[in-house]
Amino acid sequence: MCGESANWMYTNSGIYNSPFDQGCSIDGMGASCAEVLGLLGFGAAYSPAVMRQKAADMYSASRDLLPDILSRPSCAALFSGLPGGESALNFLDSDSHLRLSWDPEHDASLWATTTDYNGTAFINFNSDPDGSFINDTALGNADTIVHEMLHAISFVYNVRPAGWSDNDGGDDPAARAAQVMNQQIVKSACF
Ligand SMILES: [Zn+2]
Repeated sequence: MCGESANWMYTNSGIYNSPFDQGCSIDGMGASCAEVLGLLGFGAAYSPAVMRQKAADMYSASRDLLPDILSRPSCAALFSGLPGGESALNFLDSDSHLRLSWDPEHDASLWATTTDYNGTAFINFNSDPDGSFINDTALGNADTIVHEMLHAISFVYNVRPAGWSDNDGGDDPAARAAQVMNQQIVKSACF
């Protein structure tokens, strides 16, 4: 089915997959979701493949800012716990325990999520056309990449900066406080 919600499935790999990817139908019409969205006036500009590519391109633009951002010693120090002297950029680009994806999130307000599954971290950057990632600046999304990298390194290697918490998702007071603290850690060290 196609709709505003309830389209995302939580798979055992910890990634939100959209039925758009597999094609879906409304009431047996057999139309793909891209076709349905086109019929509804959204057109191809919002097809999942187009949005995934847009999110990936925006990621690349923000990734290109990281060497400069990580040249700040205080920012590089956030990643000093990586084993064997691995660099933060190598972790992001090449670590076999990290996977990146660009798919819609169940919550458009999210920039990205990092999920831990069997020792591998999965970072998904929200490709929702109304979402925070798609509508942020390159610098804002670079902040998000650093933030999610810290979750990923915490999950994979069990190392994290002082004060960092991985329990910063959700609306309860503790999660909100952790979110504020995590944002302060990244902002003061890197931006
Ligand atoms: Zn977080």
